[in-house]
Amino acid sequence: MNIAVDYIIVGLGLSGIAFTELLLKNNKSFMVFEDDSQVSSVVAGGVYNPVILKRFTPAWNGHKQLQKAIPFYQELEEKLRIKLDYKFTTKKVFTNVGDENNWFIASDKPMLSYYMDPKISKEKIKGIIGDYGFGELKGTGRVDTPLLVNSYKEYIKSLKSLIKEAFDYSKIQILEDKVSYDNITAKRIVFSEGFGLKKNPFFNYLPLNGTKGETITIYAPELQIDFLLKGSVFIMPLGDNKYKVGATFNWTDKTSIPTEEGRKELEDKLQKIIAVPYTVIEQSAGIRPTVKDRRPLVGKHPKFSKLAVLNGLGTRGVMIAPTVAENLYNHLEKGEELDKEIDIKRFLTD
Ligand SMILES: Cc1cc2nc3c(=O)[nH]c(=O)nc-3n(C[C@H](O)[C@H](O)[C@H](O)COP(=O)(O)OP(=O)(O)OC[C@H]3O[C@@H](n4cnc5c(N)ncnc54)[C@H](O)[C@@H]3O)c2cc1C
Repeated sequence: MNIAVDYIIVGLGLSGIAFTELLLKNNKSFMVFEDDSQVSSVVAGGVYNPVILKRFTPAWNGHKQLQKAIPFYQELEEKLRIKLDYKFTTKKVFTNVGDENNWFIASDKPMLSYYMDPKISKEKIKGIIGDYGFGELKGTGRVDTPLLVNSYKEYIKSLKSLIKEAFDYSKIQILEDKVSYDNITAKRIVFSEGFGLKKNPFFNYLPLNGTKGETITIYAPELQIDFLLKGSVFIMPLGDNKYKVGATFNWTDKTSIPTEEGRKELEDKLQKIIAVPYTVIEQSAGIRPTVKDRRPLVGKHPKFSKLAVLNGLGTRGVMIAPTVAENLYNHLEKGEELDKEIDIKRFLTD
């Protein structure tokens, strides 16, 4: 049976989901390939926070992206009938007296003032080591990305639009006004493979370096916190006395295999922040699709305009995905210019 669709999508992580949602809203037909070879969206902490807590500076376009992201996940909650968005405050653990002063100065700056409470908290929190106090952020939270990815896959399967296999790039035939793949013809292919892009012969010239991240989940009944605590690692409440602790940054190992080294690093850091017993109940790892210049990779292939890429979401995919997916959709369907910062044209040499 021959199938003719508007789009083939390769990869159903956060970027593929955001793009597929736009296709559905605009009554475009599609088929999605997904082979579970990458797990970044599944292992992610799912945290959204538009403030960089290392430097007390705004994350790139974070405030604007969040205005689009929150309603996006809320709509998905209603459509899939699941809870995705867990709002909480974030407490930054200060490690020296300078932190307090820097926090106070930053909290008065445009954008940052929406989120950073200028009041410094000196409270003693049971089980937490925090001699220099805490700074509090409002408007932060987490999206349950594993639940989202798994539920969304089931949803696309129920639409009979999911092909659970590895996309084979050698099968692409580029025709005059469309592309074909086996028995499918499509007007366009959008590649949203995360770090899997490395195997894509059309787009692997792009400088996606990829950064491995590992997390552990701990069971700690004496740690009674309902906010995210951010020190050298984050400790994020999951409910039922479970907390996700993460994450590591490794630029050389490109596998999604959890390591002893990763667990040890997380536990060493954790023990400097909490003083209660805990048990590690889970460990996971994935590759963040990070880019040399820390901006997404979006746009049409320089030679084959029917092929497009949506990638490079880096460390903040939850906030960025809905915005850049819309940018790409409007570019492909309405001819709108892409923001130069995300356009892959920036990596053309001639
Ligand atoms: C440990 C860790 C913690 C993180 N924490 C956060 C956080 O707290 N907040 C946040 O915003 N971000 C976080 N991130 C980053 C976030 O996970 C990414 O930005 C985002 O998930 C990337 O989504 P993606 O869809 O581009 O890629 P992916 O999630 O990698 O999805 C790509 C999909 O394409 C599929 N695929 C690839 N190649 C093929 C092929 N040839 N055929 C078929 N399918 C294919 C893969 O199986 C995969 O499902 C974290 C990442 C890690 C690793």
